[in-house]
Amino acid sequence: MTKLRNYINGQWVNSSSDATLNVVNPASQEVIALVPQGSVQDVQQAAEAAAKAFPEWRNVPAHRRVQYLFKLKTLLEDNIDEISRTIVLESGKTFGEAKAEMQRAIENVENACGIPTMMQGSFSEDIARGVDEFMIRQPVGVCACIAPFNFPGMIPFWFLPYAIACGNTYIIKPSEKVPLTMTKVVELMEKLDLPNGVVNLVNGTKEVVDGLLQHPVIRAISFVGSSNVARYVYSQGALYGKRVQAQGGAKNPVLVLPDADIEMTTQIITDSVYGCAGQRCLAASTIITVGDHKDITESLVEAAKARTTGFGLDDKSLMGPVITPESKNRIEQLIQQSVQDGGRLLVDGSHATVAGYENGNFILPTIIEDVPLTSHVAQTEIFGPVMSLMHMNDVDEAIRFINSGNYGNAACIFTSSGASARKFRHDADAGNIGINIGVAAPMAQFPFSGWKDSFFGDLHGQGMHSVEFFTQTKVVIERWLKEWTRKF
Ligand code: NAD
Repeated sequence: MTKLRNYINGQWVNSSSDATLNVVNPASQEVIALVPQGSVQDVQQAAEAAAKAFPEWRNVPAHRRVQYLFKLKTLLEDNIDEISRTIVLESGKTFGEAKAEMQRAIENVENACGIPTMMQGSFSEDIARGVDEFMIRQPVGVCACIAPFNFPGMIPFWFLPYAIACGNTYIIKPSEKVPLTMTKVVELMEKLDLPNGVVNLVNGTKEVVDGLLQHPVIRAISFVGSSNVARYVYSQGALYGKRVQAQGGAKNPVLVLPDADIEMTTQIITDSVYGCAGQRCLAASTIITVGDHKDITESLVEAAKARTTGFGLDDKSLMGPVITPESKNRIEQLIQQSVQDGGRLLVDGSHATVAGYENGNFILPTIIEDVPLTSHVAQTEIFGPVMSLMHMNDVDEAIRFINSGNYGNAACIFTSSGASARKFRHDADAGNIGINIGVAAPMAQFPFSGWKDSFFGDLHGQGMHSVEFFTQTKVVIERWLKEWTRKF
């Protein structure tokens, strides 16, 4: 059985910790690799390597640094199928979903190729007679990301390309549940011939996270994961004097007005709720109808029942399993609890098996109607293929309910009325808004916003926020006297 290694200073090295966890195919429970639990010593080695590489790397001109990214884009494109197959094997999502994920990773590499322009400073001439002032952006130093399980190929690329293009050196800490994808990506990246220590990979769990948060040379941490851990990472990072951007969990509401196109709305909402088995931080999870809801309810039920679930490499599968048996149990308990709380199961996907994959963590598409608004299930992130369907009297009531939640990752509306859409985008408390869009995922040139418990920090991932996060500003005021002009 392959035991994964760390990539430090341009070498694959064994973790100093002997303890390992199984990496498991969620569709079959087959153990496909062993991942080290990692240690503070591993972090120490990576931080030393990254710190050693930093002074030389930051002096490479930005337009030379991005040449590595142009090559990286081609490398990822040429190997997208192979990387995507690895994503399917360890995360359970379908091959199409995995490829779409890698496409998003590549978009970020493309966007970061613009860093020579994006990190330009500003200049004011003659702020006083003969005195000029300018602001330049410089890299911050060694930076690291801590990633979740649900997008093993994309999420490190929300940060890595911007960080290194800005002149920082980097440490990636993938989720221990899905560490194979980044191992494969870094193996491919060896072909880029980046200087040793510019990109490092450390596998592991909490001890590694704590090591990154506490290490004095690490200046900035990007975290994506559940809200409780995001809050912890944010506060610990601040305690140890680091910049932190910490993206947390979500519970994304979708409002459907009576003037929405039923066919389109059904298709888009169904893809949003059940895509990646509901394990997307932008997945729709609470669908709120206003007005007559008979037709849209029937249409959603029909679509949920029709969705094929199975192993992600089977062409027919539109949805894969959830990540672990524990996750499956947790989701099934939430479904049960919602019924005890007064919800009605219109489609029950719990306790499902898929032929040929009887051990897989499958839950079929589920719809619970009329979950009481104050119940635990109505408020908590389920992170599975479960739709809570609610009916309200008017848009104001719906927006009040949406804004009463703890999360603020995304909120979407389906309508053919521009005025209703405008009111919604203005009033809904969420960082990403979809209008007739089910997964409001910002393109690489926009920040991946997120409000309330969905984000802790100031500067989000992607776009210009990345440039600000991965650089520190330096302001220079300078005076040159005329009489110092030399005549040659
Ligand atoms: P998680 O919080 O369990 O793990 C994320 C990372 O934190 C992993 O690398 C893990 O090793 C580490 N970790 C876990 N527990 C820790 C602890 N106690 N102390 C220190 N480190 C710890 O999240 P997950 O289950 O891998 O991912 C799913 C969650 O991520 C969901 O809540 C989802 O909404 C969220 N997510 C959010 C976004 C976003 O953009 N807001 C994107 C993707 C996923």
